[in-house]
Amino acid sequence: MSCDCDSQQGYLLPFEDALERLLCSAKSSQKQESILINHAFGRILSQDISSPVNVPPHNNSAMDGYALRSNDLNDNNTLTKIGYSFAGQPFEGTVEQGQCIRIMTGAVIPQGVDCVIMQENTKVTDEKITFLKSASSGDNIRNLGEDIQKDALVLTKGHKLVAADIGLLASLGIETIDVFSMVKVAVMSTGDELVEPGGILKAGQIFESNRYTVISMLKVLPVEIIDLGIIRDDQSILRNTFEHANDIADVVVSSGGVSVGEADYVKDILTEMGEINFWKIAIKPGKPFACGKLPNSYFIGLPGNPVSATVTFDQLAIPFIKKLSGENISPRVKLKAKAIDDFKKRPGRLEFQRGVASQDEKGYWQVNSTGKQGSGILSSLSRANCYVMLDQNSNGVLSGEHVTIELFNQKS
Ligand code: AMP
Ligand code: MG
Repeated sequence: MSCDCDSQQGYLLPFEDALERLLCSAKSSQKQESILINHAFGRILSQDISSPVNVPPHNNSAMDGYALRSNDLNDNNTLTKIGYSFAGQPFEGTVEQGQCIRIMTGAVIPQGVDCVIMQENTKVTDEKITFLKSASSGDNIRNLGEDIQKDALVLTKGHKLVAADIGLLASLGIETIDVFSMVKVAVMSTGDELVEPGGILKAGQIFESNRYTVISMLKVLPVEIIDLGIIRDDQSILRNTFEHANDIADVVVSSGGVSVGEADYVKDILTEMGEINFWKIAIKPGKPFACGKLPNSYFIGLPGNPVSATVTFDQLAIPFIKKLSGENISPRVKLKAKAIDDFKKRPGRLEFQRGVASQDEKGYWQVNSTGKQGSGILSSLSRANCYVMLDQNSNGVLSGEHVTIELFNQKS
């Protein structure tokens, strides 16, 4: 994760370069474990999964009705019912010419027949069934292997398992799977001014929020979270905490103290302990950002300002942690939306402004600003449902023009 621009005063690292460098440095430990599928929601597959069976495993009926030979209806539309096929209780015999059987949805198609006619299109008189519509071979039959063929690849290594995947695995009869072990992420906030919610503020103090945001964002990832609390701006306490975090975690995340301030010891301690880059990234909010290697772990240093901490964690740290977790990551979906408000900006940095996106009556996306965009205004993020991304060189966007947005809470 070296950055030959670190020494160049005033140089801002483009966002895409920062992300690429960060992702290049993430080496998954490849540790794996076997788990029951019931525990696998949100975990990352460490193996390809091929189907051990055909789905469906037999030709079966898509309807409640009668199974028959479609040719029989050419001469005579009344056939004799000779038995039943229920889901789980197949008809054992063969259906001959002039015969049919009652069949229910999911039941095995017996020997001899080639179609199913739904019960609504029949008239039943004891064992005589009159068909009110003709049929073609294959009608209302779901064929063996139609959904998934035996040995077909169904899920690939690096895939994050969603609810439908767990159901799919169950439908294939698979009980346990191999997934990547959870990455351990230690989270701390630094600053003498910080007080835990629930406490009482003295002069100059503020309630801590970054750890709460970061931990909440981590909760949707397959990671083990280690909460190290608020760490005072005290050199030896900070050093002990970083050493402890490095011993117990795979990734150490701290917020605060990565910009230059008199009481910010974080930089000195980290520089002694490992190989850390202190980047100035061409984004707003979130210019100061630190990352690199401690002896046994990776380090991510977020800016202290709450919006900056949240945006950099979301845009840089989350893809990094996903990659470490073995997940195949794909770029987030971006949309074009019509600006309802002006989005002011000066050229120089890529901006992640906060917006409220909606669809107009024709389904086109439009976006409002959440108002003030300062890096300390956390309410702007809380009210927003998307980022309004304004290019590094953009001069701002006027109402009526189009902007790129990225909705929050995307799967990837
Ligand atoms: P720093 O990067 O430590 O200089 O902090 C920059 C700004 O962010 C200061 O106004 C801090 O008070 C504020 N800040 C730092 N850490 C937090 C936190 N965990 N929660 C809320 N605000 C914070
Ligand atoms: Mg601080």
